[in-house]
Amino acid sequence: MTAADLLFTGGVVLTGDPAGPRARAAAVSAGRVVAIDEDALELGGRSVVDLEGGVLLPGFGDGHVHPLWGGVELEGPQVRDCRSVDEVVEVVARFAADHPELDWIVGGPYDPALAPGGHFDARWLDTAEAHRPVALQSADHHCVWANTAALHRAGLDRDMPDPPAGTVLRRSDGSAQGTLVEWTAMDLVLRHAPKATQAEKTRALGRSTAMLAAAGVTWAQEAALHPDDVPRYVEAAAAGLLAVRVNIALRAEPGDWPRQRADFMAARAAVATGPAASSVSARTVKFFADGVVEAGTAAMLSPYDDAPHSCGLPVWAPIELAEAVTAFDADGFQVHIHAIGDAGVRAALDAIESAAHRNGPRDRRPVVAHTQVVHPDDLPRFASLGVIANFEPLWAQLDPLQTELSVPRLGSQRTAWQYPMATLLASGAVLSMGSDWPVSSMRPLEGLAVAVTRRGADGGGPADGWLPHERLPAAAAVAAYTIGVAYQAFEESLWGTVSVGKRADLVWLAADPFDVDPMVWPQLAVRGTWLGGTRTC
Ligand SMILES: [Zn+2]
Repeated sequence: MTAADLLFTGGVVLTGDPAGPRARAAAVSAGRVVAIDEDALELGGRSVVDLEGGVLLPGFGDGHVHPLWGGVELEGPQVRDCRSVDEVVEVVARFAADHPELDWIVGGPYDPALAPGGHFDARWLDTAEAHRPVALQSADHHCVWANTAALHRAGLDRDMPDPPAGTVLRRSDGSAQGTLVEWTAMDLVLRHAPKATQAEKTRALGRSTAMLAAAGVTWAQEAALHPDDVPRYVEAAAAGLLAVRVNIALRAEPGDWPRQRADFMAARAAVATGPAASSVSARTVKFFADGVVEAGTAAMLSPYDDAPHSCGLPVWAPIELAEAVTAFDADGFQVHIHAIGDAGVRAALDAIESAAHRNGPRDRRPVVAHTQVVHPDDLPRFASLGVIANFEPLWAQLDPLQTELSVPRLGSQRTAWQYPMATLLASGAVLSMGSDWPVSSMRPLEGLAVAVTRRGADGGGPADGWLPHERLPAAAAVAAYTIGVAYQAFEESLWGTVSVGKRADLVWLAADPFDVDPMVWPQLAVRGTWLGGTRTC
């Protein structure tokens, strides 16, 4: 018997396989796991990785992430960690001074809880840059905060009405204040900003996927892409820049979707027959059922507590959403629906139910992403319809975004309906996890800590966790970030556990997460990541 290419030993292998959850070693040849435990030690390896007392886990899958947006956004001012409006203004001012060559300053993501009600004023940004346009995206990427120059560039004056499904926040005299809510309004400004070139986008993918690999991620669901950008992924893969495998979700638009069907099928086929077919696919279609609670745009079954005339802004009429989901389902695509409010979640489930009814049974694995406010009547429908509940677990904490923006809008009853992870797991639904980066940190260990504790990294929120009955057991949380995402990817036979025959998509952590307090998971170092047996970090 010849030795394997690679032997992992000197620590614990947490296989994720209930039949043998802990092993002392794993052996890898030709990119696949070929032996576990005793058998692996017997086989030996031509090259050995000493785990130094750490653990080897299946690589994480990010079930909802935006490597292209996020990578491009890294080029602008980085205001993610700013804790006040003044700090944001300071970072933007410094960036603007450092980049006299730029015509526009475009960056993000700012914390929408930094200003009361999420209402940001153009004049604040004018103090950072008075002449060139500045546009920052909010952390949820459902708002843009623009300076006066950017508002002028957009031609936004008092007479210009709000676009459909978007809101321009205004001063008492009707002029734009500086915050644009939802895509159609954001686009009034953003469409004038220079676009990243193709080469810049391809490079951005290299940078963002390297960051994912450093966080322990080996597979990513690109959560919303225009078909024109699909070749960037293929180019990045062909250039050896793509550090994770990716499945692309193509973004369907209300009104346009009948015309998009042919383009989406062509894009899917081009990827499947192209040079990057082993690392990129495009077999999913993304829909935004609604917006976000913190901007008051998530679609609710009854009005917001702070706005008794508003139930939010559904992006699609429910009937058209059902038509479109049924059509793309008939075309063989997996559907992936952003659904945040209880009406958004219901519209998504109704659309999926209608597609299944009209198109007949098949292995379709539809995904509801974010799954934030779920009406109790809809909880059993995830399991009964076979809908994967995708969560961004980092959000399931009682942080200022909740206390300042969401709780006052939702009221106490609906506040308690948020992120029902344990309830859905117990109902038999499949859970998958993701980061939604650049909306929030891409590091799975940060999200997993919240999934298990429902507390902030700073220990914020109630001591036993926010809505503690929704805390997940540690093993279930890790499973949702590994095999749960592999199931979402239709690849549970290929990765998601460390098992003989599966791809060697692996992550090495400095310590056993099941041996330490989950509150310290964010500090656990990722020591290495392997994609198909090749080290990516
Ligand atoms: Zn997203």
